[in-house]
Amino acid sequence: MTFSLSGISGYSPSIAPKHVKMLVLGAGPAGLTAALYAARAELAPVVLTGTQIGGQAALTHTIENYPGFPTGVGGSELGDLFQKQAERFGAVVEYATATAVDFSQRPFKITTDNGEFLAESVVIATGATPIHLEVPGEYELTGRGISYCATCDGWFFKEKDVIVVGGGDSALEESLFLTRFARSVTIVHRRDSLRAGAVLQKRAFAEPKIKFIWDSVVTKLAGTDKLEKVHIKNIKTGTESDISAAGAFIFIGHKPNTEIFKTQLVMDDLGYIKTDMLSQTSIPGVYVAGEAGDPNFRQVITSAGMGAAAAMQAIKFLETNSIEA
Ligand code: NAP
Repeated sequence: MTFSLSGISGYSPSIAPKHVKMLVLGAGPAGLTAALYAARAELAPVVLTGTQIGGQAALTHTIENYPGFPTGVGGSELGDLFQKQAERFGAVVEYATATAVDFSQRPFKITTDNGEFLAESVVIATGATPIHLEVPGEYELTGRGISYCATCDGWFFKEKDVIVVGGGDSALEESLFLTRFARSVTIVHRRDSLRAGAVLQKRAFAEPKIKFIWDSVVTKLAGTDKLEKVHIKNIKTGTESDISAAGAFIFIGHKPNTEIFKTQLVMDDLGYIKTDMLSQTSIPGVYVAGEAGDPNFRQVITSAGMGAAAAMQAIKFLETNSIEA
């Protein structure tokens, strides 16, 4: 006797996992470039976008250091171009996020919020997320004055006073962008010299709307419904003070989006996935590109380059290790 579940009321048969030759996790510069190369090798790669199509680059107002665009290019515009180019050769972009992976055997199993995949090879290009200050008020006031993206939120601070935390390239680049809207931009930095590159430093020092508070850290972000005051402490003198600000933009670095791979792949202490010189992770057939494995360069051009390299290695791997569905 056969027993059919399909006759039971309310039962819907689960959709069979999609079997693909290459699954790319992430649709930033690394993932979309990997997809372009894999598509041109006729692997029909599927790209899962995660929550942020275009990656962090899409949140950048203007990218001035990506070759081929002498007058700069909008971050989201560049992401669209990457996607169109990959799709032209057969890459398929799916709006889904990977929630779990099983790399213990091939085909690799990837669970998403919209079904399951079996993949003969995987390129991880899940990128990185801004680090939080972890001070009182930060969580409660995020979206109510506290932001990690000037391109997204700068417009809301027309003629307002804002602070920026950090002394790296991001802090300066985003501060310069914020001067388009804000009345003043005060950069609070924990040392007395900046980490940012010379060109950005020169521009920031020359911008009359930008002021600096040196040797200081933010200890609390305060306000009733929205941010009103930022408490800071001078770490050399111990002096504490308040600054009135409608906005606080935090640019103190990033952490890799690699949580779901923790039990599967070898990583460093900060969660960056370790690879050999050829983008290969600790599991043959699984490759990493971009900021999920790169704490150093973090540029659109380097991430795109890593995407190309990872895809080329995956293509080679599949030539000798294909397991047709
Ligand atoms: P970053 O270079 O790591 O700089 C982070 C900044 O935040 C540093 O100044 C650091 O202070 C400060 N900081 C870290 N933790 C802090 C804390 N808990 N409290 C207060 N301050 C803290 O990060 P990024 O600026 O995001 O840049 C990351 C990478 O992307 C870099 O390689 C950068 O060159 C690149 N990038 C390039 C461009 C461009 O080329 N146009 C634009 C953006 C980013 P210390 O200096 O004291 O460590």
